[in-house]
Amino acid sequence: MAKEKSMQCSFCLKTDDEVIMMISGAKANICNECVENAAKIIENEIGPSTISKPAPRKNKGGKKEFDYKPVDIKNYLDQYVIGQEDAKKVLSVAIYNHYKRINQNTSDDVEIEKSNVIMIGETGTGKTLMAKTVAKMLNVPFAIADATVFTEAGYVGEDVESILSRLLQAANYDVEQTQRGIVFIDEIDKIGRKTDNPSITRDVSGEGVQQALLKLLEGSDVLVPPQGGRKHPEQKMVSINTQNILFICGGAFEGIDKVIEKRITSTAIGFKSSKAYETVKEHELIQYVNAQDLRSFGLIPELLGRIPIVTYLKSLDASALKRILTEPKNALIKQYIHLFKMEGIQLVIEEPVLDYIVSKAIEYKLGGRGLRSICELLMTDAMFELPGQTSTQDFVITLDYAKEKIEKSKYAYLKVA
Ligand code: ADP
Repeated sequence: MAKEKSMQCSFCLKTDDEVIMMISGAKANICNECVENAAKIIENEIGPSTISKPAPRKNKGGKKEFDYKPVDIKNYLDQYVIGQEDAKKVLSVAIYNHYKRINQNTSDDVEIEKSNVIMIGETGTGKTLMAKTVAKMLNVPFAIADATVFTEAGYVGEDVESILSRLLQAANYDVEQTQRGIVFIDEIDKIGRKTDNPSITRDVSGEGVQQALLKLLEGSDVLVPPQGGRKHPEQKMVSINTQNILFICGGAFEGIDKVIEKRITSTAIGFKSSKAYETVKEHELIQYVNAQDLRSFGLIPELLGRIPIVTYLKSLDASALKRILTEPKNALIKQYIHLFKMEGIQLVIEEPVLDYIVSKAIEYKLGGRGLRSICELLMTDAMFELPGQTSTQDFVITLDYAKEKIEKSKYAYLKVA
């Protein structure tokens, strides 16, 4: 394949394979090094510049350094995430310990281990939301990746390092910030080893990926292509140390209830027939999940050892879904009311409509994620027609209106088989 013509910095004449980044203008290019040098010159000439010194990253609430107690983190999460009390508590403690560890005195004898977290729960129960919310609160770079797109280096698919490229981009190419970021890896349950025995043949999308992830999770220096992917083979690699990057993994681990049940019934002799077991059965078994249960999904012990904190998210029942619609700080209904208000229209949604939306979300089996699609079906016509109409003041959504919009729509396609 013919090599693409390289770009050259119009100031220092370096080519794009000699620098981290090249910015091209209409008739000239400039590399990141010249941008930095130019910023220094500006600073010397006319005082501190916002280009050379990005504003210190303040956390929400105006705190500069990590200055939160677990309770503060949980309180912040409470504003956005409904229910999931155990997960919120576990995550708050993990985050607190993680940043305490980062800030610990290097001369301390006791080295605190990293608190990577794994969250188990059905799709749409708030795993991603929780990780995203914490990153927003701390104002640290955040990147999401789906474990299923990764393959072992050299095979078709993405290298696991690409997640660090995304984090670097989220940090505006600030390496120091990148090294304090949070990475969320979803669908970790889908990269299990295909058989119980270590593979003899290549297992490029299962164990191979786990081994590659292990390297990132352990904390090592990883060479990362700043623009990601393999499309820019000439780009200069950036070294990122993953020691202080927090990894939060998520997965549905379908069928884990059975695994937990089997473990409980086989370890506690006589437990099954006892009243205590009946009480356990009534509750969701997921709350008893531990790392051992995850091994049966083909996750290698070395990897699980690097994700020491295991927590779970409950499936969302009707009352939780209804609360999600209205309570969080940026609840869907609040967002729609705001959107209409910007048009000078007061949106009123009658109470039975909320229950109806929830019943449809349960029917579609999409968890919290389904709520948005249903609301869109419900509101699209109004959002299309009302803007610009001068006479409209209030817009009331009644149950009949909601039923008409949803039943007539293509809602059946939303349904999960
Ligand atoms: P998951 O990662 O578990 O598949 P998400 O976190 O992506 O699910 O949830 C999808 C959407 O559903 C979120 O953006 C949010 O709007 C809503 N949602 C899900 N669970 C909750 C929850 N516990 N509290 C508030 N909103 C939620």
